[in-house]
Amino acid sequence: MIIAACDDAGLDIPRYCYHPGMSIVASCRICLVEVEGIPKLVPACQTPVRDGMVVHTKSTKAVANQKQVMEYLLINHPLDCPVCDQAGECTLQDYSYQYGRSQSRFEEDKYKKPKKDVGEHVLLYNDRCIMCTRCVRFTREVSGTSELFVDGRGHKEEIEIFPGQPLNNKLSGNVVDLCPVGALLDKDFLFKQRVWLLKSSVSISPADAGGENIYLQHNDGIVYRIKPRYNAEVNTWWISDDTRYSHKPLHAENRLKQATKLQLGAPGFGAPSRVSFTEALEWADTELKRLTTENGEGSTYAVFSPMMACEEAYLLGQYIRSVDPGAVLILGPVPTVDEDEVFKHYLSSQETFRIKAEKVPNKAGVMRVLEMLGGTIQTIDEASTNTKLKQGWIVGGYLSNWIAQAVKFPEGFKVVQDILPNALTEKADVLLPATAWAEKPGCWENFAGKIQAFDAAIPAPEGAMREGDAYMKLLGKPGVYNADAIRAEMGGAFADVKLPAVDETQPVMEFVEL
Ligand code: SF4
Repeated sequence: MIIAACDDAGLDIPRYCYHPGMSIVASCRICLVEVEGIPKLVPACQTPVRDGMVVHTKSTKAVANQKQVMEYLLINHPLDCPVCDQAGECTLQDYSYQYGRSQSRFEEDKYKKPKKDVGEHVLLYNDRCIMCTRCVRFTREVSGTSELFVDGRGHKEEIEIFPGQPLNNKLSGNVVDLCPVGALLDKDFLFKQRVWLLKSSVSISPADAGGENIYLQHNDGIVYRIKPRYNAEVNTWWISDDTRYSHKPLHAENRLKQATKLQLGAPGFGAPSRVSFTEALEWADTELKRLTTENGEGSTYAVFSPMMACEEAYLLGQYIRSVDPGAVLILGPVPTVDEDEVFKHYLSSQETFRIKAEKVPNKAGVMRVLEMLGGTIQTIDEASTNTKLKQGWIVGGYLSNWIAQAVKFPEGFKVVQDILPNALTEKADVLLPATAWAEKPGCWENFAGKIQAFDAAIPAPEGAMREGDAYMKLLGKPGVYNADAIRAEMGGAFADVKLPAVDETQPVMEFVEL
């Protein structure tokens, strides 16, 4: 289509209803262009290119149409940009600046439509809707759930849900990203931040093994929202709601921030006492070495969480083997539901999206690292009955309470690194507050064997130390944790993994005169 050819060539054609991931309806009419030899303007989104075709995207006729479409769309659209969440990333606002008039010729009263609560995560400000039907097509063609439809005709047209059938599918948040104006809004993000204050960091979803590509959008050390990042091979334009709200535990009130070690003498024998992170780390190292000498080779273990970055797993593996060359390496629990959740096109039944049943991002990557390190590797069940194991290092970092799954660990001295409190952190001989994926760089391998790098978006909470830095200290390696350098050292499949260079250049907004 002409619009896709222009996108490839870097020519900006305005659009509202067109989206490359859905069917073409050519209803908004703002993409009309002039094609030599055709008397009427044609929609760029619906007209295939052919050899020798000459297209004028900024001719007098094309721009006149764009201005008329803008005037028409703004007839009933409220001028509430200052209080609208979409302000700053609204194409209606952008094109209004480019093509619109500074004054309205409309003298009648605007037709007001009500706000609606359409689903668990989504609010509909109906008066801002420009009827592009992207949201309706999404629920039919991608989620396949068809909750949204157009009710009424003409200026009384409204987006609606069927009675008793809210927009509660697991992909519902995507309609907020799709909506070109501020009609569909995310309840969680509502009025939290102005979008121009947010910075974007390249990241990967921690919610499951799918490896969805995302941006973490943050300001002043707080992640406010997660947006999809296009990757044709993984998630295309969409993400699941589990991914979209996976930043919540980062700022949980009960986030662990204080290192502790069990008091050895009176007073307070056996109770956790607060110490600095460095002191706790040194104590963990000293005790692990002492107990390994006492209990013999092969008595130490490390539990690697499938939430860890591959680089961290590699460093921890090196450390634990430096303490005990016969140390047992164990993959931590992998929370999994019965089956993948599959979404299909409502008519063709073609698969459009899949949410993986494995609810951790890096089981494959951690296993790859453990196999690279070699030696004895056991499952958590095997380890729980291995009476030889006496002291160990356990990494958690799960986004919810993972100990609730009745996981058993070998008895004895335990160093625990975790982000949220649970039964294990309460009993830890040494507790080291850990960092979450948004606070450090690294890489994860998804279910399909694709290794993808992510970047740190926000700093580690005060009192915690990035796992990579802690392991570097223990190993006596100079400098700070650098994911690129560690991947180069790891070699193999990790050597070429790089953070993608993301082009975030915005189209230059110019006022277009006739
Ligand atoms: S709510 Fe948004 S996406 Fe849906 S039709 Fe209206 S403008 Fe388009």
